[in-house]
Amino acid sequence: MTSNLQAYRGSLLHFLADPAFSDQSHDWFEDGLLIVEDGKVQAAGDYATLHATLPQGAVVHDYSGKLLMPGFIDTHLHYPQTDMIASPSEGLLPWLETYTFPVERQFEDTHHAADVADFFLDELLRCGTTTAMVYCTVHPQSVDAFFTASEQRGLRMVAGKVMMDRNCPDFLRDTAESSARDTEALIQRWHKRGRSLYAITPRFAPTSTNLQLQLAGELARAYPDTFIQTHVSENEAECAWVRELFPNARSYIDVYDSYGMMRPRAMYGHCIWLDERDRQRMAETQSAAAICPTSNLFLGSGLFDFERADDAGVLLSLATDVGGGTSFSMLQTMNEAYKVARLKGSYLPALRMFYLATLGAARAMQLEGTIGSFSAGAEADFIVIDPQATPLLQRRTARSESLEELLFALALLGDDRAIAATYAAGRQVHVRETT
Ligand SMILES: [Zn+2]
Repeated sequence: MTSNLQAYRGSLLHFLADPAFSDQSHDWFEDGLLIVEDGKVQAAGDYATLHATLPQGAVVHDYSGKLLMPGFIDTHLHYPQTDMIASPSEGLLPWLETYTFPVERQFEDTHHAADVADFFLDELLRCGTTTAMVYCTVHPQSVDAFFTASEQRGLRMVAGKVMMDRNCPDFLRDTAESSARDTEALIQRWHKRGRSLYAITPRFAPTSTNLQLQLAGELARAYPDTFIQTHVSENEAECAWVRELFPNARSYIDVYDSYGMMRPRAMYGHCIWLDERDRQRMAETQSAAAICPTSNLFLGSGLFDFERADDAGVLLSLATDVGGGTSFSMLQTMNEAYKVARLKGSYLPALRMFYLATLGAARAMQLEGTIGSFSAGAEADFIVIDPQATPLLQRRTARSESLEELLFALALLGDDRAIAATYAAGRQVHVRETT
C-alpha cells in the first residue's frame, strides 16, 4: 500500500533536544527529504539516501531552496480577541474592561463564534502555526464553535471554556457550579475526539472564587490527561491584586498550587513576576511557562527572565497571546523574545527560539513524539518557509553563512509572508498566494 505516501524535498530542520543544554540539538539536511504516509512522518533525512527508498512512481513535491520544518506551536492565545488585536490601552486591567469583556460578550452568539473561529484558524495557518493552546469565552458554545472549525481543518488544537465567576461584568459571569458542570460536559464532548484536546481554563485567579478554583482543581485530578491553562504573574498591579484577594497564599502561583493545578500539561501564561520558589515548583511539577513577549511589551507588563527559568529547569514555550499580543506570527514573536532576553542581559540564539516554537513547546505540553518534530510516527504537521519571501529577506539570507544566521534573519525579518505553505496531518491547509 503506497497510495497515501507523499514526499517533500527541501532543506530540512527539526530538533532533537534543547540547544541551550545539548550540542546535538537538531538535524539539518540542506538537501533533505520528508516522507509522509497516512498523515504521519515515515522518514526524514538526506535526499540522496532516502530517495532511493521511495517506491517506484512516488511523487516528490519539490520545495528546493525552501526550509521544511515542523509547524509552529503557540501555547497561549485567545481566539475571541481576534477582532480587538492592536487596541490602544494603558495596561492590562483597563484593557480588559474597555476592550476584552465587551468583545467576549459577542460569543454568546454561535454564528459570531463560528465566523471568528474560521478567520482565527486560517490566520494561524497563514502564519505557519499548526497547534495552539486557545482560550475561548465563558460561553460553552464558543468552545463548540472552535473545535468544530479546527476539526474541519484536521488540526491538533487545545482549547477550553473560560471559567470566571467574579470581578467581571454580569454578562460574562458563570458560577462555580455551572463552570464545573459545563467544563466536564465539554471534556466529555471534545477531549481526544479526533485531534482535539481540552484545557481546563480558569481565566486567572482574580476572576475566580475559591470554590471555582477548587472545582477546577478537582476536574484536573479527575481528568489527569486534560490540559490546564491560565495566567500568572503577568504584571505588578495584577500581582498586588492577587495578594489582596488571596492573603493566605505564599505567592500568586501558590494559589493555583494549593488547588492542585500544578501538574504536567498545565500551561501558565506570562510567568514574569515569579520568585525562586515559584520557579522551583514549576520545575518539580512539570508545569510549563508560555512566554508572551509581544503582549508583555505591548501592555508594558514586564520582561520574562530566561536565565532564571533555565537555572530552575522550567519547561518553556513561546506564545503570541493574541489579542494582548500584537502578531499571530511566531517569527515576530521570536523577534520580540530575542529583544526581551537582551533587555534582561541574556542571549537567545535563533536555534533556541525555533526549538521553543516546535519541539520545546511539544515537550512543555507532554506531546513529544506526537507533534513538534519529524521523528518517525509523529503527526505530519509541517511548514514550508521561504527565505526569499521579501526583497529584504532575499538579500539578507543570500549572505547567511550558517544555519544560525539564516534562522536569525528569518526570526527578525520574517512574518506570515515567509510561510509558503502549511500542512496538517499531511494535508495542505494553506498555500501562500503569489502576486
Ligand atoms: Zn492571555
